[in-house]
Amino acid sequence: MTKTLKLGCIADDFTGATDLANNLVRSGMRVVQTIGVPTSPLAADVHAVVVALKSRTISAAEAIAQSLDALKWLQAQGAQQIYFKYCSTFDSTPEGNIGPVTEALMDALGTDFTIATPAFPDNGRTVFKGYLFAGNVLLNESGMQNHPLTPMTDANLVRVMQAQTKRKVGLIDYKTVAQGEAAIRERIATLRAEGVGVAVVDATSNEDLHRLGPALKGMPLVTAGSGVAIGLPANFGLKPSEQASHLPAATGLQAVVSGSCSLATNAQVAHFKATGRPALAIAPASLMRGQSDAVVQQVLAWAAPLLKDGPVLVYSTAEPEAVKAVQAQLGVAEAGALVEHALAAVAHGLVGLGVQQLVVAGGETSGACVQALGIAQLQIGPQIDPGVPWCHAPGDHGGVHITLKSGNFGTEDFFTKAFTVLA
Ligand code: ADP
Repeated sequence: MTKTLKLGCIADDFTGATDLANNLVRSGMRVVQTIGVPTSPLAADVHAVVVALKSRTISAAEAIAQSLDALKWLQAQGAQQIYFKYCSTFDSTPEGNIGPVTEALMDALGTDFTIATPAFPDNGRTVFKGYLFAGNVLLNESGMQNHPLTPMTDANLVRVMQAQTKRKVGLIDYKTVAQGEAAIRERIATLRAEGVGVAVVDATSNEDLHRLGPALKGMPLVTAGSGVAIGLPANFGLKPSEQASHLPAATGLQAVVSGSCSLATNAQVAHFKATGRPALAIAPASLMRGQSDAVVQQVLAWAAPLLKDGPVLVYSTAEPEAVKAVQAQLGVAEAGALVEHALAAVAHGLVGLGVQQLVVAGGETSGACVQALGIAQLQIGPQIDPGVPWCHAPGDHGGVHITLKSGNFGTEDFFTKAFTVLA
């Protein structure tokens, strides 16, 4: 058990884990992210650990099993509060996995109440009267209705959450949040008395999240996107500091691997190509019938001579119509798995070619790449854009600096800006 550990976090995907870790670092916590549930005790003295699972789109039963494993390990390390982190666009289906995992964690912790809010105002995710906005539009008009794996067609989070859980779902609305800690605690007491087990919380600004934070002190389980994290370190007496984000100096070659088909990533791929930097598309259909290995070898042969001149991009990123066509041909899961597997092999091959600064775009894609690279632990460093920090994985020749960009995060020039930030 480490002396300093305060917060034990369970994230349902890899980019989400980094996003949460990033917010904790910015609020003054030293943070390590582990890839999966570690098999040995925590080595570093840190304030928070984020256990990154890849449980967003697996079966609910499997997601529960993995999350409970993570909980057990975090409790053994001495975590004082548990934080279940999901996507700021509440990525899930009526089967889950946000509801079922929340319920299982509540049962395991013996608690009858928790909150649920994906609000992350720095990234344009706000919750108002229970409705989730992404930027200026409702969730179901944001492009998320076309997500390959978790299409979100309803912006009302009370309704979305209620469809996934047997516990009664309620709302702590903006008027209550505006009044601060005492009012929020009072509202929680009222909801509890009404038999509500999970309360969606409105938040439209960082001030809202800072007002919410103190009311969560002592709550055994918090479930949220990454935004709520900014209000928690203060509960443990921690303040923002430069030291929290310090990483070793970066070395080696640079590359970008993108398997996200989100709107923002499509724009980032277009922007990178417009700079004239080398970019190569992988067509999912070309990976069928055992052709994946050959395609990966071709990609690496293409990249090898180019890397010395600066970053290259390898992508499967495509517009929604093209994704739909491929999914109709291959099946949704099969198309996703084929592409993830190929891009992970590409990432592995690129590191073999000397890449030590790697940008990966896409939550599922990041999970696959990190697993292929055999990365077990990441120290969290400085932020590139809201929700996306550089990380460092220790290893040979100084290890690898890697950033895991969730689909809709990052400005258009993210794929070039990231390397500038690191330099
Ligand atoms: P995001 O963070 O944008 O949601 P993810 O990597 O989590 O991105 O999810 C994108 C999914 O779509 C992955 O399973 C990926 O393999 C799959 N995919 C990527 N490119 C294509 C494509 N061109 N056609 C069909 N599926 C694709």
